Amino acid sequence: MSTKKFVFDLDGTLYRASAEIEKLVDKAVVSFFKNKLQIDENKAVELIKSLRERYYYDADALGNEYPFSKQEFLEYICDVDVSSLPQDKELNDLLRKLPNDKYIITDSTKKHVTDVLSQIKVDKDLFKNIFDGHDMHYSFKCTGKGFAKFLQKYGLSASECIVFEDNGDNLRAAKKLGFITIGIGNKINAEDVAFCDYLYKDIKEALLSVMAIFCD
Ligand SMILES: [Mg+2]
Repeated sequence: MSTKKFVFDLDGTLYRASAEIEKLVDKAVVSFFKNKLQIDENKAVELIKSLRERYYYDADALGNEYPFSKQEFLEYICDVDVSSLPQDKELNDLLRKLPNDKYIITDSTKKHVTDVLSQIKVDKDLFKNIFDGHDMHYSFKCTGKGFAKFLQKYGLSASECIVFEDNGDNLRAAKKLGFITIGIGNKINAEDVAFCDYLYKDIKEALLSVMAIFCD
């Protein structure tokens, strides 16, 4: 079974979900709209609140309601300070022991992946490829289209890939496409747990178990 490909989400999966990072991304979204529309902070906050009632992703509003580049938006909101994340040498060692091909699939950007990996001290060269929000053409993971584009790009079938992911909507989409799904962390709701083949409290616990199940 060492031919299985390991496909990792980044945020909340390769490191524990960080309220601090999420807050910085939210702040960047506000500041993007504030600058682009030349409105004050309160107006921008109100606007984003209303957009989020209509769109799952802030980026979706750009195509429909605002003529701003999704590429520029994603780069801007993902360019956040990640220096609060703890180093995780143990994770690096565990990943290095895995003979399987490893990929990262993220709705964010390659720059953000590079920033995070370098901060947590996980070597980027452990991963065969990084597939980001731009590669998905902004049809992110929860729609299933992001995962489908990933399979297409690397010529893989879903059943040979194990997805590690902390987001319930993304796990559901991956399972529907035929991926083996590993839920990470505690924010997956009961309904979405049904779409997880396995569930672990964090990535290291998951890797230790999965190595025993899927590696020779
Ligand atoms: Mg995540």
